[in-house]
Amino acid sequence: MSHAMSHATGAPQRLERAASALRDAGVDALLLTPGADLFYLTGLEHTHAFKRLLALVLRADGSAAWITPAMNVPQVREHALSGQPVRSWTDDEGYLPALQERTAGLKTIAFDDEARAAFLLDLLFVAPEVRVRKAGDVMRALRSRKDAAELETLRAAGRTVDETIPEAIAFCRPGRREIEVDEDLRAALGRRSPESSVAFTIVASGPNAALPHHETGARKLQQGDVVVLDYGTRLNGYHSDITVTCSVGEPADPEVRKVYRVVWEAQQKALEAVRPGVPCEAVDRAAREHITAAGYGEYFIHRTGHGLGLQLHEPPFMVGGNTEPLEEGMVFSVEPGIYLPDRFGIRLEVIASVAAGGVSLINAPRVGELPIA
Ligand code: ZN
Ligand code: ZN
Ligand code: ZN
Repeated sequence: MSHAMSHATGAPQRLERAASALRDAGVDALLLTPGADLFYLTGLEHTHAFKRLLALVLRADGSAAWITPAMNVPQVREHALSGQPVRSWTDDEGYLPALQERTAGLKTIAFDDEARAAFLLDLLFVAPEVRVRKAGDVMRALRSRKDAAELETLRAAGRTVDETIPEAIAFCRPGRREIEVDEDLRAALGRRSPESSVAFTIVASGPNAALPHHETGARKLQQGDVVVLDYGTRLNGYHSDITVTCSVGEPADPEVRKVYRVVWEAQQKALEAVRPGVPCEAVDRAAREHITAAGYGEYFIHRTGHGLGLQLHEPPFMVGGNTEPLEEGMVFSVEPGIYLPDRFGIRLEVIASVAAGGVSLINAPRVGELPIA
């Protein structure tokens, strides 16, 4: 899977764009360990290196070199381009000499900000003079604008979660535990798309639905409960993410339908605000103003959305204070919610992309009315 991607998506072009971003930022080199950024640039997936340093060092002149545990050499060679030296190290030697060699003479390094802290501490030990920046600051501009192949993969992943909505709602029957609904949902996702993996699931019922990131537990669903179902898959490295909210029979709380309508309308307002050049915070504001005007502002306790791609949460973030302008190809969630403590919560989530003329939905759940399980 990752091998096909690295060729299809053009690793040399991406490495050159990253080198160009390093030059623009005045940074000498980029150091990445296995994760989303390294996958994006080279197609190399996690290789269970864990505490052993496996890294790509890309210099601003476009040259690149690898550091790898001896046991991972074959996996690295599959992704190393010709002209990229592979420096392996054995457990007896440890990785400090390799790290020192590969970073000698570098004054500023953009370091993988999601790497193990010990790798950074070791870098500062072997190169105490080096100045360190976050690799994410260099990489975000590359990764946040998705190309046509990435958008197609995101849409394919989105179809899986869309198609699973009717089943997911039907699983919410009185007497069933959240964890049982969760197991059924995971199985349904696996049947829909055997080539995908389940990235995460949240099943939050009754008062648990008032917690946006509830840990799915043993609570039994009751007649009249609201249930928030938030789930996502991963296909060829790219994620889907959806939230639907349903009721187990007619909702017990008389305010449920009204709150559902407000959240739905807020989501539509946010989607209408999407177009190139608009600041990210305007998308958040569109949803928030609607919810506030309806009297529920203090119960909308998180940002409106997050970028989505190789990571489930990545830039850009639709949040107050983020003046970054939307650009064509950006992909993010629009997921307003209202959470009434100890009663219920409602969140609705779709994934949007920025197209020339406005919004283009990556997935499109049509759940404008409260679904009844
Ligand atoms: Zn979340
Ligand atoms: Zn979600
Ligand atoms: Zn989300």
